[in-house]
Amino acid sequence: MSNSNSFQAGRHFLQIPGPSNVPNSVLRAMTQPVIDHRGPDFPELTNRILDKLAPVFNTSSSIFIFPASGTGGWESALLNTLSPGDRVLAFETGHFATLWKQVAEKLGLEVNWIEGDWRTGIDPNRVEDCLRADTDKSIKAVLAVHTETSTGVTSQIEKIRSAIDTAKHPALFMVDAVSSLACTEFKHDEWQVDVTISASQKGLMLPPGLCLNAASEKAIEFSKSSKSQHSYWQWDAMIENNDRGYFPYTPSTNLLYGLDEALNLLHSEGMDEVFQRHARLAEATRKAVEAWGLEIVCKNSAEYSNSTTGVLVAEGENADSLRNTILRKFNMSLGTGLGKLKGKIFRIGHIGDFNDLMLAGTLSGVEMGLAISDISHSKGGIEAALNYLSSN
Ligand SMILES: *Cc1c(COP(=O)(O)O)cnc(C)c1O
Repeated sequence: MSNSNSFQAGRHFLQIPGPSNVPNSVLRAMTQPVIDHRGPDFPELTNRILDKLAPVFNTSSSIFIFPASGTGGWESALLNTLSPGDRVLAFETGHFATLWKQVAEKLGLEVNWIEGDWRTGIDPNRVEDCLRADTDKSIKAVLAVHTETSTGVTSQIEKIRSAIDTAKHPALFMVDAVSSLACTEFKHDEWQVDVTISASQKGLMLPPGLCLNAASEKAIEFSKSSKSQHSYWQWDAMIENNDRGYFPYTPSTNLLYGLDEALNLLHSEGMDEVFQRHARLAEATRKAVEAWGLEIVCKNSAEYSNSTTGVLVAEGENADSLRNTILRKFNMSLGTGLGKLKGKIFRIGHIGDFNDLMLAGTLSGVEMGLAISDISHSKGGIEAALNYLSSN
């Protein structure tokens, strides 16, 4: 590990797939004095943020902001819409899908769990088959993780929506877009997502501490008959207060200042440009991985993630010791393998406030780390990435 007692010159490279780097202007925005969240100036901040969030989710429905991590967003989505004993259909794409399933189980839901290989996304045909088999329509919701951050696999939400429609199934559609929002195009309304869950610390370029729920009219209808016991997450209280520009309890005022500024940055760059930047940097990363002769966790190129690339090391080699070497020698944090991928992969985050030269530095750190570790690889990753960047 890095020696925290001694000064390390230069900037730390935080290349985990969230929390991501926070732009300086966002950090500065958060140092503004705290204001009265029940005072006359607060509604302007709330309204400004909600207006600027809508085009990020591509929705005209309600968006709720809670002081919590992304896990709270899962819990809020399930508690508001469903009742204990309800059945939900969920897919094992990786660690985050598994954690969400565990939350659902703890809340008393019955989870139909479709196992997966942690290298591919949700198969829309499988979704259709499962829903067709549910002839009495007892499945109340389909849960899908858009970008499975533990593997770097992005499921095709639009196709999953079509599968639900083809099966003519009335289940709610809930999507975890925590690490895809503001990195990969997301269309809450067009894809008829009922609840989109997100959080502050990934594509939104903020520190951890906020979670978000975008809810369709259908989800809000469901919330009126949900029998789950809860208080903190109540959408009805959010709607009532947000309508007047306030929150039912003390919001994270300074994170909201940061969100206000982060949304300015996203919109001034342009959402399409933001997605293209992520796609290009992700592709350059994969060029480097291929040149190193290492295997990308994501098997299907149509499911490559814009946010993170999972990289397998050879059987018997230890990806965490590589990560530790890179942290100690080059002051860069890479994502660890989570759950059953522990030690077998490392993850390069290319998410949020990130550009060509930051990627060049990141890949240089990885290539130097590979050179001084016992990880079998070839040279030339950086060159492959830079060639791609300079010609695209
Ligand atoms: C980061 C992340 C979460 C949220 O995790 P928290 O630690 O609770 O903020 C949920 N889902 C995915 C896909 C994520 O990447």
